[in-house]
Amino acid sequence: MTAAPFIDAPVSALRRALDDKKISSVELVTLFLDRIAALDTSINAFITVDRDGALAAARAADARIAAGTAGPLTGIPLGHKDVFCTEGMLTTCGSKMLANFVSPYDAHVVSLLKAAGAVSLGKTNMDEFAMGSSTESSHFGPTRNPWASDHVPGGSSGGSAAAVAARLAPIATGTDTGGSVRQPASFCGITGIKPTYGLVSRYGLIAYASSLDQGGAFGASAEDCALLLSAMTGFDRRDSTSLERPVEDYAAALHAPLADAAKPLAGLTIGLPKEFFAAGMSDEIRAATAAALDQYRKLGAVTREISLPNANLAIPAYYVIAPAEASSNLSRFDGVRYGHRAATYADLDDMYCKSRSEGFGAEVQRRILVGTYVLSHGYYDAYYLQAQKLRRLIAEDFRRAFTECDLIAGPTSPVTAWALGAMRDDPVQMYLADIYTTPVNLAGLPGISHPAGFDAAGLPIGLQLIGNYFAESRLLTATHHFQQATDWHLRQPALLTDAQK
Ligand code: GLN
Repeated sequence: MTAAPFIDAPVSALRRALDDKKISSVELVTLFLDRIAALDTSINAFITVDRDGALAAARAADARIAAGTAGPLTGIPLGHKDVFCTEGMLTTCGSKMLANFVSPYDAHVVSLLKAAGAVSLGKTNMDEFAMGSSTESSHFGPTRNPWASDHVPGGSSGGSAAAVAARLAPIATGTDTGGSVRQPASFCGITGIKPTYGLVSRYGLIAYASSLDQGGAFGASAEDCALLLSAMTGFDRRDSTSLERPVEDYAAALHAPLADAAKPLAGLTIGLPKEFFAAGMSDEIRAATAAALDQYRKLGAVTREISLPNANLAIPAYYVIAPAEASSNLSRFDGVRYGHRAATYADLDDMYCKSRSEGFGAEVQRRILVGTYVLSHGYYDAYYLQAQKLRRLIAEDFRRAFTECDLIAGPTSPVTAWALGAMRDDPVQMYLADIYTTPVNLAGLPGISHPAGFDAAGLPIGLQLIGNYFAESRLLTATHHFQQATDWHLRQPALLTDAQK
């Protein structure tokens, strides 16, 4: 059996191969586990690989397939970002604080995917507590970009994005608080969707900034993302912000009959915020974005200029609100019940202080300090309250924009993947790179990033589409039709043509 056709195949083809008994789930999972063993020492996309658990789940999936009770993801391997709790397995959140934490329960997303018969290969690397845009702040070392090993994969879900880009897993979960699904998808040349806030349960998702955190899906294509996202959504009473809505079959919607096959996007108006095309973006990203928009027009969409006048305030607002919530959420890591505890300490205060100083890395400590500062008496009004007002203005901008267009498009990031270490001494520079993604989280809207070209160094460029609340299907369908007409999403990093296939 040769591995290549299965390693490269879209999830729908893997489904057919499993159902037609061309390959068993055990064989398929073994191919990916072997590939991880061969390639991940250099990429570092996984923190934990669960070989035994994956093979046991694959055997159960094979039984379901044989019994004729398989669903779309039964027997399909995937990776979980290490921010999702997994029963009986390490869940580290990329932190020394949780380096030995074995969760007693599964996150809602994890149990939904288990119930669907998907096979978890293990847990993927991430910025510590999902704080970052590069996956360099992980306690377990940085993940490397499969397109250029001396560059970052983006973050904070960089392990999941790199795993899918390197085909160490066909699909993977992620979370997006300020861009952590869309930006690494763009840096790694894959597709990633962050749904409307509340669509994916946050139960068992280790909290960073609860009013912004949202689970999302990575795949090589919109169709693969659609299959994964459909299986991740659904009301969960254990998350008080979970929305009670019927689960949509996003993949089926991609294949809805078209009035005009040559113009599948006829009737779609795409808004182009003038603020997203101002200075600050590289010429190569500008050119790739323009070419992608031309393609959307060829497919029948109409584009028009719109304005999001407060979008440039998203970074200051986000970098007050997210650390404020983080400082509160992370106060639970006190060294008492679980997590890292200092070996020696004088008294209770000293134990808290030492445990947290040793357990948290520099970026997490920076955010806790910023967060407690902006929430403190005397500064709350000046920072936190102002940021909340900006958040409302940004959401209002989008509400107005969506009276003029169906989707909003622009680059996912103003830059392509930077060199490892390039932003080490300048955290603010890294924050600024989140300019196009953070407004979407502040408004609670869905967004997708899909491949749209490469820069001169051969690093991927992503295009972001933003939808109104619950427009996931529209985002995925637009991306799907773009991908039917282009091949950016089919390009693969050079390591995939090597001997491991
Ligand atoms: N880069 C942003 C941050 O550092 C977003 C991270 C995320 O979405 N988890 O907070």
